[in-house]
Amino acid sequence: MKRKLFIVGTFIALIALIGVFYQQGRTPDQQSKPGAASIVMKSSPFAEAKAFPPGVPVLMYHSIGEEPNNDAVISKERFVEQMKYLHESGYHPVSLDDLHDYLALKKELPLKPVVITFDDGYRDTYEIAMPVLKQYGFRSVLFFPVGKDGGRLSWAELREMKASGMEIASHSYNHRSMDGLSRAEQAQEIQNSKKTLDQNLNQNTRWFCYPNGRYGPETLELLKANGFTVAVTTEPGWVKPGDHPLTLRRIWMGNSVDLKHFEERLTREKYSIL
Ligand SMILES: [Zn+2]
Repeated sequence: MKRKLFIVGTFIALIALIGVFYQQGRTPDQQSKPGAASIVMKSSPFAEAKAFPPGVPVLMYHSIGEEPNNDAVISKERFVEQMKYLHESGYHPVSLDDLHDYLALKKELPLKPVVITFDDGYRDTYEIAMPVLKQYGFRSVLFFPVGKDGGRLSWAELREMKASGMEIASHSYNHRSMDGLSRAEQAQEIQNSKKTLDQNLNQNTRWFCYPNGRYGPETLELLKANGFTVAVTTEPGWVKPGDHPLTLRRIWMGNSVDLKHFEERLTREKYSIL
């Protein structure tokens, strides 16, 4: 018995030692080079591996349900299949703060990073998406237009979603296209939504989604002035190093995205637009 313990102990010590040498052998340059799939071992060789990926897919969902002719909607079956795929293929959903630090501070992310986002706050985000995401322990983001669709989800439901790992972010107050508003109106949309979310969810809201994907130069200025660090658009593509954190691309998710195309969108930067 003692001998067995000794062998196991020696084995663990050896692995720890290899980890330490591996870490010391790396130069800082190696650890932060963009695009390099550099796996950095943490103090324990069993810690979760991280790397600096060449890009991050940000998935954009709207409603989930049975509306086959509406491509802004995705069927429950297809959504469940996609989340299962992410889980089985080892993807790691990350937060918008993680994405910000990847862009602004060149911070590494867990292997196979992805961001899962929902726009507009439909009831099915609460009823269908949340339980599936919870099952896999996936974090996600809901962009919620406080004034326009406030009736769809209650604050109690939004707090429950937040507690389950879904970030509740701003989608303006009234969901009006920002490029058609005056500077003062834009400021109001941004400030009212932030204030309401901050107060009701006890948070510092710093993530924004442009209603209808539209914005002007003033919108970026106003977001910055109000403490927003990340904003997403509806422009297709991956988020890449060097991108402006307030104009991030997202990948469309709807009924037309079957599993084959889902996989392509996650693995190929130049995926086919359907
Ligand atoms: Zn919207």
